[in-house]
Amino acid sequence: MFGLMQQQELLISGLIDFAERNHGDTEIISRRVEGDIHRSNWREVAKRSRQIANALKHMDLEAGARIATIAWNGYRHLELYFGVSGTARVLHTINPRLHPDQLTWIVNHAEDKVLCFDMSFLPLVQAIHARTPSVEHWIALCDKAQLPKDTGIPALRSYEAWIGQHNSDFEWPIFDENTASSLCYTSGTTGHPKGALYSHRSTLLHAFGSALPDVMNMSATDSVLPVVPMFHVNAWGLPYSSAMVGAKLVFPGPALDGKSVYDLIEQEQVTFAAGVPTVWQMLLSHMKPLNAKFSSLKRTVIGGSACPPAMIESFKLDYNVEVLHAWGMTELSPLGTLCSLKNKHRNLAPEEQLKLRLKQGRTFYGVDLKILNDQGLPQVHDGKSYGDLYAKGSWVINKYFKETSPALIDGWFPTGDVATIDEDGYMQVVDRTKDVIKSGGEWISSIDIENIAVSHPHVAMAACIAVPDPKWDERPIVVVVKKPDLPLTKEELLSFYEGKTAKWQIPDDVIFVEAIPIGATGKILKTKLREELIKA
Ligand code: ADP
Repeated sequence: MFGLMQQQELLISGLIDFAERNHGDTEIISRRVEGDIHRSNWREVAKRSRQIANALKHMDLEAGARIATIAWNGYRHLELYFGVSGTARVLHTINPRLHPDQLTWIVNHAEDKVLCFDMSFLPLVQAIHARTPSVEHWIALCDKAQLPKDTGIPALRSYEAWIGQHNSDFEWPIFDENTASSLCYTSGTTGHPKGALYSHRSTLLHAFGSALPDVMNMSATDSVLPVVPMFHVNAWGLPYSSAMVGAKLVFPGPALDGKSVYDLIEQEQVTFAAGVPTVWQMLLSHMKPLNAKFSSLKRTVIGGSACPPAMIESFKLDYNVEVLHAWGMTELSPLGTLCSLKNKHRNLAPEEQLKLRLKQGRTFYGVDLKILNDQGLPQVHDGKSYGDLYAKGSWVINKYFKETSPALIDGWFPTGDVATIDEDGYMQVVDRTKDVIKSGGEWISSIDIENIAVSHPHVAMAACIAVPDPKWDERPIVVVVKKPDLPLTKEELLSFYEGKTAKWQIPDDVIFVEAIPIGATGKILKTKLREELIKA
């Protein structure tokens, strides 16, 4: 027997319709590439996304055509999120921090038909445009007056001129909710990048799940600052979940330095922010010497790489901001777990709470996790036994774009992470499979070694890598960037490890460097470090 309720396809167009009808005057604030602040609202975003829909119709692009963006977080990018996907075409967000050769490869692989870009990426687009024959239309995200002449890109148009020719009378089409909505390539530390192709259904369910109180706890009272880029896994879904709850959105554009982010948080009374640890490091380094405080910020989601304990502590003790540590992947849309406490944890001693908050957290309805040992057998959930982490769920990848076989093992997606899960379901990433250090048959977590180093007051950044060892197979060394003008010797740092970890896990060596290489998504490039240091 079937239930007798209405059936509605879960479509991204439904989100923007809802936000327009119910939260039309809620603001959308953007710092533009030009540096000024632009003020819009959900009503305006909805109207302009319908103009995009008409503009795409006029271009005669078939359903499923890929429309690419190389853009910062801002209102025009947001309009494309809804205007492109709402018409059953696919929004392909591209990471501008990639090498031009990788970018070319991605555009060609995706067969993008339109490429929209912020003016700050003009040189990048000039470098690739002759090598990307599928692209028929080039759109600069600016006013007509700002469009430079003689760019070498034939028929380059300004976004405002492009959508300005079309009115906003448009009825969103209804189609199967499993239709593709957006495409994001993983940075691909080995081999070519791979595309994760999201659907309307997976995007909507991810937005529902991530907005829940124990997850990102989002509401119409929030002013949300996605520092996490819209070119990487849809800014953790925040554009969609904010539309779903009617939150105000505040976009930082290209200005990600500590001062700009702090000023924006204060001016726009941001209550909730999200980003990778490196961004928050810059923010805290700006605020500390000025003794600046937050007047509105309540919570921040930190993920993408392990959040150092010193950061969680500083946010809590110095600024009364709750850090929600989260774990995810491009292949998971991206949210897999988030660390919020259960009722029974509320009365734990502060050190115990901190230990728990360091974990990447528990999963929520819609995603399942499991850990398997080397023999492929399930590991116990005791918070100590670790194994390869697998995920499954409504917003977890099945196949990569254009690949024929599923990316799964027995129906589960292998994440490439090694993790523990405790009795309460809290998952902790021990390492990425390829970064784990195997010493004398035992594993050393590079994350643990790095966390201890960065808790030293004179250390700005640390990365732990393995060096080959004739006796133990591998031994850890730690590569360190010191804080400016603060002294630190190798011996001092090594003795700092004593008592904080097992003796045999203490690194064999400390290498001081000026800078540690960071990849396109803000993560430490250990492959590069290994290449540079281990050969030398
Ligand atoms: P990439 O394109 O580099 O794969 P992703 O954002 O998809 O970018 O990276 C996912 C990986 O990032 C995870 O598999 C995990 O190794 C790491 N990661 C994400 N969040 C965390 C976290 N909170 N702690 C530790 N590692 C994390």
